[in-house]
Amino acid sequence: MPVLEVENLKKYYPVQKGFFGKTVNQIKAVDGISFSLESGETLGLVGESGCGKTTVGRSILRLTPPTDGTVRFRGRDLGDMNKEELRRARTSLQVIFQDPFSSLNPRMTVGRIIAEPIRNFETLSPKEIRERVAGLMDRVGLRTGQMGRYPHEFSGGQRQRIGIARALALNPDVIICDEAVSALDVSIQAQIINLLKDLQAEMNLSYLFIAHDLSVVAHISQRIAVMYLGRIMELAPGRKLYKEPLHPYTKALLSSVPMPDPLFQPDQEFELSGDVPSPLDPPQGCSFHPRCPVATEKCRTRPEYRQVAPGHWVACHLVE
Ligand code: SF4
Repeated sequence: MPVLEVENLKKYYPVQKGFFGKTVNQIKAVDGISFSLESGETLGLVGESGCGKTTVGRSILRLTPPTDGTVRFRGRDLGDMNKEELRRARTSLQVIFQDPFSSLNPRMTVGRIIAEPIRNFETLSPKEIRERVAGLMDRVGLRTGQMGRYPHEFSGGQRQRIGIARALALNPDVIICDEAVSALDVSIQAQIINLLKDLQAEMNLSYLFIAHDLSVVAHISQRIAVMYLGRIMELAPGRKLYKEPLHPYTKALLSSVPMPDPLFQPDQEFELSGDVPSPLDPPQGCSFHPRCPVATEKCRTRPEYRQVAPGHWVACHLVE
């Protein structure tokens, strides 16, 4: 059984107008996406900014309640859980944010930041908590002597290590890495990705790895889902997606980033041009059609998201 199953997830934000706040429109940030995450797997979720990928992560964690759809953790619907059950489930579902500086309380020492979830959920003595925190700091490559320091005394990469230690504090099953390495220099990115891979192997963690850069996701994901305007356009095993992309948007994204594989030849026909349309007024039919170099009349109707080969899903009329 997958550790996490997302089915037809939707998150719409109402656009209100006037004194009485009448809803006049909706922003469909996430518009019916489905995927599953296996134990010990990394699923990359990529797309340009504004495609809704961060909202997917927030909706799964119920930091923002979904408008519709189901999220099951180990077979149980998070939407059916009472407050206490959800609180417990959240200990197994953790998140690492892009900017650890804004997510770490600047007035708390690193030791207290990492200890906070342990204090909230477990009954351990101060000595046991200190030992657990020391072990976590050691595991993510921080010196335990730094326990009494404050977040501003650390570099960006070190702060991300603090965020990882905090996410690990309650032995989670799933970690949502929301642009977790996007703000870091390339060399530091590689260090953090290697750390995440090592932790995954040790602890059988599952990652939903959200990023806007396909080359970053390539290093860590077994499967990759490509999102555009609130929907998944293509989902496939990582190497397959790079070697044989089927959706024009995936091809366009791949031709716009330097890939780690020197044998990878981008398809120049699919250069990405123009901006992402407003989610307030998304194009009818295939939402990619105004930017798609191979669009046809048929593309004015919405293509079905379907499986075209084992494990390879795509939403495009032109893919057989
Ligand atoms: Fe392009 Fe049409 Fe496929 Fe959409 S359905 S990606 S517009 S070819």
